Amino acid sequence: MGKPTGFMEYAREVWAEQPPTERIRHYREFHKDIPFERLRLQAARCMDCGIPWCHSHGCPLGNLIPDWNDLLWQNRLPEALELLHHTNNFPEFTGRVCPAPCEKACTLSLNDDPVSIKLIECEIIDRGFEAGLVQSRPPRIETGKRVAIIGSGPAGLAAAQQLRRAGHTVTVFERDDEPGGLLRFGIPDFKLEKHRIRRRIEQMQAEGVEFECGVDAGEDISANYLTRHFDAILLACGAKTPRNLDIPGRNLPGVHYAMDFLSQNNRLVSGLPVAQEQLISARGKRVVVIGGGDTGSDCVGTSIRQGATHVLQIEVLPKPREHAGTSNPSWPDWPNILRTSTSHEEGCERRWGISTSEFKGSGRVEEMVIEEADWNFEAGKPPAMTPRPETRSTIKADLVLLAMGFVHIEHGRLVRELGVELDQRGNVRCDTMGATSVPGVFTAGDSALGASLVVRAIATGRKAAIGMDRYLTGDSLLPDTTLLW
Ligand SMILES: Cc1cc2nc3c(=O)[nH]c(=O)nc-3n(C[C@H](O)[C@H](O)[C@H](O)COP(=O)(O)OP(=O)(O)OC[C@H]3O[C@@H](n4cnc5c(N)ncnc54)[C@H](O)[C@@H]3O)c2cc1C
Ligand code: SF4
Repeated sequence: MGKPTGFMEYAREVWAEQPPTERIRHYREFHKDIPFERLRLQAARCMDCGIPWCHSHGCPLGNLIPDWNDLLWQNRLPEALELLHHTNNFPEFTGRVCPAPCEKACTLSLNDDPVSIKLIECEIIDRGFEAGLVQSRPPRIETGKRVAIIGSGPAGLAAAQQLRRAGHTVTVFERDDEPGGLLRFGIPDFKLEKHRIRRRIEQMQAEGVEFECGVDAGEDISANYLTRHFDAILLACGAKTPRNLDIPGRNLPGVHYAMDFLSQNNRLVSGLPVAQEQLISARGKRVVVIGGGDTGSDCVGTSIRQGATHVLQIEVLPKPREHAGTSNPSWPDWPNILRTSTSHEEGCERRWGISTSEFKGSGRVEEMVIEEADWNFEAGKPPAMTPRPETRSTIKADLVLLAMGFVHIEHGRLVRELGVELDQRGNVRCDTMGATSVPGVFTAGDSALGASLVVRAIATGRKAAIGMDRYLTGDSLLPDTTLLW
């Protein structure tokens, strides 16, 4: 808790942001810093509620939220940072991109605005870095056991750091030319600047983690090589198979997967090479983004920054209800309500309950045929959609971005040759410590969960690290703090 009466004395405050008209001129993060004294007052709003649902139900990492709020209120930043790192390897990532289910579970949110947990988390780590409090922590002992981590997204990175700190020799293999997974080549810089990832990689390298980028496991090195050279393997490859929209006109130029567009823009912003003939640009175009999630929202913000003339985002599901006042109807669960991202605020049209039946154009996409759709949500049955043919219409589109989610891990040679069992959805099946059906092979993050969240990737990466540590040594002293699995 912070100050017992703080929630009655101070109103919620979050980061102020640069106005949309200014921030769309660049790709950098756009929040403005909050002075330390005002930050402390936000921590003071944590109210000693008795059962901190934010920690025990909301945050998948089990972040010790009331405790670091209290430490910050008492002006004890180093201890607050230590406690934050006890449960979360990368608070500077979650503090920026996490949807903050903790705040939806905050007891104060029952009849007031919740504690600004995400802001406080991010400020603790940012100020910790500024003050030089984040140091490398190489292990004191070496176990001599060798671990291969396949994939350097948040799951792979969290597991790598934990396993190295437990004394194992850790090599991270990454197909891309830089580590970070979707943090690096999916999420745009305006949500997470990439120097923050490089800073962590440097810390991990100083601790002894080895990174081998540009290596496609399964192709450049075989499953057989991995099992012969390493004592344990972690599949943290993400869920990179995108959901397709297999309708007439799908192959017209101008219809692209969202990730092709976003990863290319990430590279351009970082000055990395991009094949000019494959360039996907929204400049001067009418862009239609199909899909209403995070990926779709990132396509909106990127298209606007690239200079699209109009951006429309369509979603096949019906429009969720809007949040009524400050009450939280699903507390302490995550409510299914309308979400408006900062990208939406930058000038995008949004439509719901729209199904697309055809892409049309001569030589490249020019139009889309759409229909409004009705939904039937009957308890015990899968949701059923019925398009209404009488609402059929055509809309203009010069660039279409498919952001309809990801189905599962890629079922390539690595997964096939390792022979791990898959679940019904095509993800890697595992137990509560990330162990797969093959002894010594573990999994974490989107590879196991399906497309999910950064916070869950870190949480399952930490959990799998404990499972692997136990597998390698018979026991583990790594902290078991996550609420997942
Ligand atoms: C555009 C976009 C925006 C998002 N925004 C948010 C957000 O705002 N907040 C949030 O919480 N979540 C967000 N997410 C979801 C989040 O990024 C993922 O849930 C998370 O990154 C999953 O982490 P991961 O480590 O499991 O996998 P990933 O981050 O996908 O990393 C997997 C890595 O494995 C590598 N790899 C795969 N196969 C091989 C192989 N055979 N050999 C070598 N390397 C391999 C890949 O190249 C990749 O780098 C977003 C996702 C997308 C696509
Ligand atoms: S990681 Fe996410 S859920 Fe956990 S405390 Fe931070 S913002 Fe909240």
